[in-house]
Amino acid sequence: MDDKYFMQQALAQAKLAQDLGEVPVGAVVVHQGKVVAAAHNAPIAHHDPTAHAEVLALRAAASALGNYRLDDCSLYVTLEPCAMCVGAMMHARLKRVVWGATEPKTGAAGSVVDLFANPQLNHHTHHQGGVLADEASHLLQDFFKAQRALHKQHASAPLRDDALRTPETCFADIPNYPWQPHYLSELPSLNGLRLHYLDEGPKDAAVTWLCLHGNPAWSYLYRKMIPVFLAAGHRVVAPDMPGFGKSDKPKKDSAHRFGWHRQVLLEFVDALDLQKIHLVVQDWGGILGLTLPMEAPKRYQGLLVMNTTLATAQQPLSPGFLAWRQMCADKPLFDVGRLFGRGNPHMSEAECAAYNAPFSDAGHRAALRAFPPMVPEFEYSEGADISRQAQSFWQHEWTGKSFMAVGAQDPVLGVEVMQALRQRIRHCPEPMVLPQAGHFVQEHGEVIAQAAIKALAADNL
Ligand SMILES: [Zn+2]
Repeated sequence: MDDKYFMQQALAQAKLAQDLGEVPVGAVVVHQGKVVAAAHNAPIAHHDPTAHAEVLALRAAASALGNYRLDDCSLYVTLEPCAMCVGAMMHARLKRVVWGATEPKTGAAGSVVDLFANPQLNHHTHHQGGVLADEASHLLQDFFKAQRALHKQHASAPLRDDALRTPETCFADIPNYPWQPHYLSELPSLNGLRLHYLDEGPKDAAVTWLCLHGNPAWSYLYRKMIPVFLAAGHRVVAPDMPGFGKSDKPKKDSAHRFGWHRQVLLEFVDALDLQKIHLVVQDWGGILGLTLPMEAPKRYQGLLVMNTTLATAQQPLSPGFLAWRQMCADKPLFDVGRLFGRGNPHMSEAECAAYNAPFSDAGHRAALRAFPPMVPEFEYSEGADISRQAQSFWQHEWTGKSFMAVGAQDPVLGVEVMQALRQRIRHCPEPMVLPQAGHFVQEHGEVIAQAAIKALAADNL
């Protein structure tokens, strides 16, 4: 078996990286004619600047062989290694490294420096470049060309360096979502991030339905309810939270904080100067959204509350929620569309796919990783105190009407949790229970919207 054979395997790794939105570089480690480790670039997915293909492959090989010295191994990598990776190879006393394309900007095997040539550093590692160099460099060129095209497409609305924007093409074939996009980036809390929202119906309507989605959804979740509200002559406003839908997505998980998202929503309501609001919440839409009206009670006149809670941290998190949080941690690349499809067999494949559309690669998924651990767990957790204040508001100060709808199949925020929440919302009548619906109860939203219009109508005393 020759160098080209093993370099093909490194190239296959590089293609995996490309599919995940990482710079396409791959590596394999070979011991006694066999591949003992394979890895690709993964700094975005791992949140790790050192997660270069070579480092990950060396780590895996050392672990597989039970020895941090790899003096009988060869490493194949599609791109000339950087100084860090050459250093790692020397620490491993690697026998030989073979790379593909040269890297004129950071290459430490001859392009910028040649660390292998320094006899004070290197006694062990033989090296050779240029194996299948064309294949490797085409892969890289195509990747960066696609990235530049993406940036050019959005040149009119600048994108923050620490954020990503899902390409508009990802939303090209979304069914039942005919509404015009609206964008806003002037809110102080957005600091230049672009927020997407729907704004349909007359501005001077008697009612504005403010529809807040949760994790891992976006305004698409309300597509079945929006037409019902519009048919009643009402206005509908439905934002995509930062990190979701068509809104910009911070690259770092740590950008997502309870207080930040709440502040964005508060400023959003102020900026649009929304009045006569019927607040529509579910999941995180409620965990955050239920804390909004106490800050501006005059803006709100109705509440439609579905499968959510106030995260006051006064009880331990439920086993169902802990299982969800664990699943998100164990399977960070879980299929969002499939999650929706599982609880909603009536959804078409294209509708399920619409829930995957915002997350075009792993780099776009920071919010999906950040939200489950963000639910306030302890009394001192961020958001717990504000949630307790909100609970007191709903219990003692809320003067508007309320309507509750519950998807009974929800294992986390089902009937029992919602009945407990109902006890804490002043004058909230018995819920409408949808026995066949799950957590994403809006997927059965037409009947809920019709019932809510009646229940929250001003003349319905
Ligand atoms: Zn490197």
